[in-house]
Amino acid sequence: PYNGPSYEQILSTRKSHLTPNLVAHFKKPLVIHAGHMQWLYDHEGRRYLDMFGGIVTVSVGHCHPKVNRALNEQIETLWHTTNIYMHPKIHEYAERLVAKFPGNLKSVCFVNSGSEANDLAMLMARLHTGNQDIITFRNAYHGMSPYTMGLTAQSTWRYPLPGISNGIVHVMNPDPYQGIWGGDACRDSPVQTSRSCQCQDSCQAGVEYYNELEQTFKYSLPRGRVAAMFAESIQGVGGTVQYPKGYLKRAAELVRANGGVFVADEVQTGFGRTGNHFWGFEGHDYVPDIVTMAKGIGNGFPLAAVVTTPEIAATLGMALHFNTYGGNPMASAVGLAVLDVIEEEQLQRNSLDVGTYFLKCLAELQQRFELVGDVRGKGLMVGVELVSDRLTKAPLAVPHVLDIWETCKDMGVLFGRGGLHGNVLRIKPPMCITKSDAKFAVDVLESAITKTFAKQN
Ligand code: PMP
Repeated sequence: PYNGPSYEQILSTRKSHLTPNLVAHFKKPLVIHAGHMQWLYDHEGRRYLDMFGGIVTVSVGHCHPKVNRALNEQIETLWHTTNIYMHPKIHEYAERLVAKFPGNLKSVCFVNSGSEANDLAMLMARLHTGNQDIITFRNAYHGMSPYTMGLTAQSTWRYPLPGISNGIVHVMNPDPYQGIWGGDACRDSPVQTSRSCQCQDSCQAGVEYYNELEQTFKYSLPRGRVAAMFAESIQGVGGTVQYPKGYLKRAAELVRANGGVFVADEVQTGFGRTGNHFWGFEGHDYVPDIVTMAKGIGNGFPLAAVVTTPEIAATLGMALHFNTYGGNPMASAVGLAVLDVIEEEQLQRNSLDVGTYFLKCLAELQQRFELVGDVRGKGLMVGVELVSDRLTKAPLAVPHVLDIWETCKDMGVLFGRGGLHGNVLRIKPPMCITKSDAKFAVDVLESAITKTFAKQN
């Protein structure tokens, strides 16, 4: 049972002593007190099905016994940096992690957060290519450090700092639902819109977005010179946005032809979440030059990494580069245990099976409710975009979205929310959920939508 400070005391301390940037979800924010697998418990002992996994941080389940055991054993033996002496765990883990990658992605540098990983990837790309400029998508999220805030391209996440986007070019987001060229009928997803895909090998919308990217090279960059392009394999914070088929592969070729490297941000999409593949980029049929990862890699423990080729990694040898906690014994022990659990419990397979079932149930919901404008995603990386008008795709007004979201919470299901207009339910549960959890979540969502409609009428 919970025996910490009272709810009122927590609120008051928060108001007086924590910086105001710290947002807590929900009108009456939850005090989370305990977790077990797909379940979270609040201070009053109420149980919630966690369909957001703390923004995808929890990959194999809250307080998974095997991960906890590995961490506890390490805690009893040694806490330290592994970056001035050698420790076996970081070596064992590096070997296991890089074995998960195709091609020549064989060199890993451990850090502590997604922003740090992307910072490091930016540095590597610039040092390796000798070029400055980095391309990202409008609507991307790559972090909150001053460097990565420049990559992130949603006004909600940007402060007015001088030079924040120095050397960054934001290109049109290849969004097949809200974008001007459509393409939702041929997204890589088990659910399809009522229109069937007319495209052959590569999606026509993808071709249009590619042409637009080419224009950027013609007008906005020094001729033939770019350091990198960054892309999430499916945009997370941006509202589970998938790209048209074939686009990323061609974009990577274009970037390389202009002297740059391609960086896949797998902070949300890695470690089996998309079901078909272990890494999201594999679903786009290309191999990036640098891959960044965080969140699910440590099941909630602060751990992140950059994996790249030995040639690109070698550029870091030109000066000292140090990170006190990156790959420390506890982080490495946790990372190893997470990989074990994903394999032993076949969680990638579960993501595919439960995710596909879940997406199909949501697609049925979309048939019944006009305001469910779009259902998209792969595996257990799912988005439900709520609209006020199916035809114009105008976002559902935030108060209505909040109503639905809060009602789900009150009925025991936690969803995330995102997209520039805050109208997309972001659903990324721990990968251990079952089909009956998925069904429960859909039933609760249906009931919340019905209640909101009833209030409106
Ligand atoms: N990349 C992506 C795709 C993310 O979603 C996030 C976090 N939301 C980050 C990078 C930054 O990670 P962190 O918060 O650990 O710095």
